[in-house]
Order: sequence, then structure tokens, then C-alpha cells
Amino acid sequence: MQLKLENHPCFNDSARHKFGRIHLPVAPKCNIQCNYCNRKFDCMNENRPGVSSRLLSPGQALHYLKQAVLLSPNISVVGIAGPGDPFANSEETMETLRLVRKEFPEMLLCVATNGLNLMPFIPELKELEVSHVTITINAIDPAIGAEIYAWVRHEKRMHRDIEAAELLIGNQLAALSALKAAGITAKVNTIIIPGVNDRHVLAVAEKVSELGADILNCLPYYNTKETVFENIEEPPADMVADIQKATSAFLPQMKHCARCRADAVGIIGEMNSEAMTEKLHEAAR
Ligand code: SF4
Ligand code: SF4
Repeated sequence: MQLKLENHPCFNDSARHKFGRIHLPVAPKCNIQCNYCNRKFDCMNENRPGVSSRLLSPGQALHYLKQAVLLSPNISVVGIAGPGDPFANSEETMETLRLVRKEFPEMLLCVATNGLNLMPFIPELKELEVSHVTITINAIDPAIGAEIYAWVRHEKRMHRDIEAAELLIGNQLAALSALKAAGITAKVNTIIIPGVNDRHVLAVAEKVSELGADILNCLPYYNTKETVFENIEEPPADMVADIQKATSAFLPQMKHCARCRADAVGIIGEMNSEAMTEKLHEAAR
């Protein structure tokens, strides 16, 4: 098996024009409610809210992947990033990863999650040689987290307010440490929400760097209608640049994130081709 870690277009800036990635939309449900998320759209952990993706079963996803690599042979990474949370749909996510690993031993595998339910799956992720995991961590202070998350559902129980934020943050930080202990490359996404966590991102960067995160992706919050945060303006470019500069004291930065959809495929930043969209729709039938 030849996994070339440097061929990941999201984690390595110099690989992004050469290698593509494909997201398999197998994870519709979510186990938390972010106040910036409208479930009519895709998860903002990795994806631009917008046109929702088709959903695929693990078997359909494998079929689609086989078609996609024929159309786009430069694909080096298979990712699962929603449209909800991969580990709120852990059966579908893990089954998809197993199928893909079996058929495509050379592919890099990647998952993007809110981290709430990641921990129990780290041993199998390691076994399957999932090499890259992204956790979206918007706060390490539960008081700030309580402003961002309306609720958290874990092990069949609903949590709200500070208690919900404490549980989520605790699980995120524990999972980050465990990922690093398992030798998995870990990216942290932090969404900059003006007036909520913009002054807190530096503390997030310091903490996740301490725990071994490899790279930080500070993303501007994206204003979405019909959410608790719908009246919050998106952060100005200079706020984002200042935060990226300040946090680079702790961690390398990913700056070329294109906010890919849960069904993104090909070179980062390029639109999905019509032929690829047709294949996705065919697979979902
Ligand atoms: Fe939405 Fe993603 Fe947050 Fe879930 S984790 S509420 S899908 S942005
Ligand atoms: Fe992985 Fe995110 Fe890149 Fe998709 S966009 S391949 S989930 S880092």
C-alpha cells in the first residue's frame, strides 16, 4: 500500500493543483446544533451552505467512486464530510471507509467532524489507515461554546447551555489528543464568528497546538438565513487575516479552503463537472 501523505490537496498547498479529492455524501444526520447552521443546507464544518447534496448509501458511494476515478484520475483523497456529521452516522461512515479501503488501498482517507462522537472510532480509523481527520473546534471556553451551540445529543441524551458546550469541547479535545497518539494527521477548523468567538480564536489555537494539532483552518463564518446567527455580519477580510496571522504563532495555517460541499469532487476550488454530477445522480437512484 502506498499512501503519500504529501498528496493531500487540503493539507499540502503545493499538491492542490495536482491532486483532487472526492467527498462521499453518506452522513445526513447531525448530533449537535450550531447556531450558524440551517439543516436545509450542508454542514459548515467543511462545506459551504448551498445546494444540498444527493445522499448515498455506502454501496452506492463505492459505485460512484469507481465511476468518479475514471473521470478524474487525479483523485488522491476520499473524504467524508457530511452533509451532517460522519459520526452521527457512524455505521454508514465506517462501512464506507471499509469498502473504499478494500477497493482502493492506495487512496488517502479523510474525515471531517464536529468531534462529539469521534473517540470510539479512532482505533478503527487507525486500522483502516485513515490518515487525515478534521475537527471543527470553535471554542475551548464552555461559556463561549454555549453561545455557539444550541444543543448536543450524545448517547441518547439531550444537553443544552453550558453543559452541552462542556461535553462537546471535552470530547473534541480528548479526541484530538487520541488522534495524535494514533499517529493521524489532525486539522482543526475554527469558524470566526464576529462578536462571539473572534477574540477567542487565539486561545483555541494555543490549546489545540498544545494537544498536537498539525494545522489550523480559520474560516470566516458564513451568514445563513433562518438561523440564530442570521443577523451577525460575516467577518471582514482584515479580521480574518489578522486572526490567521496571530494564530500562526501557534500553528501552520490552511488558507486555501474553498468550503467544499459534501459532494465536492476534483481539484479544490473548481466546480463539480456536469459529467460527475450526472454520475452522482445515477449512483443515488
Ligand atoms: Fe450543522 Fe455541521 Fe454544526 Fe451539525 S456540525 S449543526 S451539520 S454545521
Ligand atoms: Fe478532507 Fe476536508 Fe479536504 Fe474533504 S475538503 S478531503 S474532508 S480536508
